[in-house]
Amino acid sequence: MTEADGAEENLHAETGETEDSQNDEDDSPAQRSRRPMCAKCTRPQRACICSSLPSSPVRLPSGLESILLLRHPKERRQKHQSAWILERCVSGVRQHVSRRLPRALQSKSIPSGLEHIYEQPQSCLLVFPGAGARPLRDVLDPGVKHLILVDATWRFAREMAAAVPEKDDPLGRIRRVELSPPPETRPVFVVRKPMLLAREEEEQWGFSTAEAAALAIDEVAQLRRTPKEDADAESGSERTAWNVVTRALKAYAQIQLQHTEAPRMRSERPGFIPKLYDGHFKES
Ligand SMILES: [Zn+2]
Repeated sequence: MTEADGAEENLHAETGETEDSQNDEDDSPAQRSRRPMCAKCTRPQRACICSSLPSSPVRLPSGLESILLLRHPKERRQKHQSAWILERCVSGVRQHVSRRLPRALQSKSIPSGLEHIYEQPQSCLLVFPGAGARPLRDVLDPGVKHLILVDATWRFAREMAAAVPEKDDPLGRIRRVELSPPPETRPVFVVRKPMLLAREEEEQWGFSTAEAAALAIDEVAQLRRTPKEDADAESGSERTAWNVVTRALKAYAQIQLQHTEAPRMRSERPGFIPKLYDGHFKES
């Protein structure tokens, strides 16, 4: 097993770090049905994050038509999910649940809403770091209209990505890119353990699906900016996807940790991140 493999296994095991805590907000459906729920964000009322959601979603940057999240079926059972928050914060986000996409030659009908993957693969970019991925900034051309991300735990994401090079897999025809987040960018969705990939001399973070999508959107926006938008960005009046999305994710994480008796700090585990919860966890 390579070092990277080992790291991914450990990180997978670590997701849902606060899972067996006593008093948090995600109980069984029966318990959930007895408590008052917020109709807008569908969270229990005392965990409502509506005040941190934007009144209108951020629009996709010029030329970008959709963000597609490919969801592993098991992702739906994950306790803490970021995809729904992304949908509330950014327009043009869609989801497709599937272990893998039907091969073009085998499929009689292309899944509805995924026509672009089969008919215009050159208009799509698959945002997935690792071997074979090139920097988004080197690949983005004016024909790119769709970004695709894999929404899954690391093990499942790897499983889905492993299928890509196989013959006839529709994702195999799509260029794979990785992001270049601004320096000092850190994950805020700390209820799902972020991945820290050790590279030779730099540290590189893995982000939740919503965070990765926001970073990708902002990177495309920056690369395609008009002079007026450039001026807005410099004056600080630009509403970035990252700012809007992480405001909501942070609110979610803070409420979750406030209702958690004590997150388990398993410092003996590989991949332990000191001070992960600093600034998030309730002062006692
Ligand atoms: Zn709400």
